[in-house]
Amino acid sequence: MNPVDFSRLRDPSPTPASELCDCGGSALMLMTMGGFARNPIFCLICEGEVEPTHLGLTQLEVDAVANWRTAYGAVDALELDSRAYEVWAQSELTRVDSPINQEAFELVRILERRRPTYFNFWQGDEVYERCPVGGEPLTAVDGNPGRTVCQRHRIVVLGSRPLRDDLRTRARPVVPHNATDGPRIVACCVRCIVVNDGYLYEERITFWQTNDMDVAQRRALRDAREYADNIGGVALAFTQCYGMDELPDEDAIEVFSLIRQSDLPPHEYIDRYFSTGTEFTQRDNWDA
Ligand SMILES: [Zn+2]
Ligand SMILES: [Zn+2]
Repeated sequence: MNPVDFSRLRDPSPTPASELCDCGGSALMLMTMGGFARNPIFCLICEGEVEPTHLGLTQLEVDAVANWRTAYGAVDALELDSRAYEVWAQSELTRVDSPINQEAFELVRILERRRPTYFNFWQGDEVYERCPVGGEPLTAVDGNPGRTVCQRHRIVVLGSRPLRDDLRTRARPVVPHNATDGPRIVACCVRCIVVNDGYLYEERITFWQTNDMDVAQRRALRDAREYADNIGGVALAFTQCYGMDELPDEDAIEVFSLIRQSDLPPHEYIDRYFSTGTEFTQRDNWDA
């Protein structure tokens, strides 16, 4: 019997050791990284590339992985290209029954003969609160707080939690005390903080047509991250939500913005100006 040929899953130059899984994590994550990954098998925990020879794949299985990577990666790359095919590609990537997604689910079943496997479902800038296939609640990944999974459909997506380690520990949505005790909430305004040029702190307050403060804060943080990406800044993992009891008539209008220069590092800045301990707020436990 011929040895298994893994060449279709290999880059011309070998993957640097620093990008290989080094955690011994057992679960796998299938993704094509915008079409750039020759080997689409990654570790769910450390997100390093998993050496395919370690999985004991047969030649048929290696070919199935490589065939899917070629097709899905091509569509993934077209989406990134942001030109004529972008809308079509987004539709193929988000449609559960598109051939590239159906083949991904089939590939998950194949890889699960070796290890637990999840398919990194495309999400663009969407934040999925529930499984995009069946609507199930998503569960956190032990050891990788940036990701959530649907156990039933074997899907993994980026969670809505903040990702930067140094900020994650301070993430805490703060809700004005009177907002939940007062009149019925019909909409929310959320304050976020974006840091640009080192220590230039910009506050953004956006308006959201939802009466769910948690939803409002997640959407606002996503919006702040998009804004931060555009200006080369970073959105701090911090939100303050105000529940409104009457409505203007447009969604997602920015209702407040202020830039303040400061030498303080992020944690101290938040403590100094936003969370001094004397605010009339309730806290919940994103960090718990
Ligand atoms: Zn790993
Ligand atoms: Zn599901």
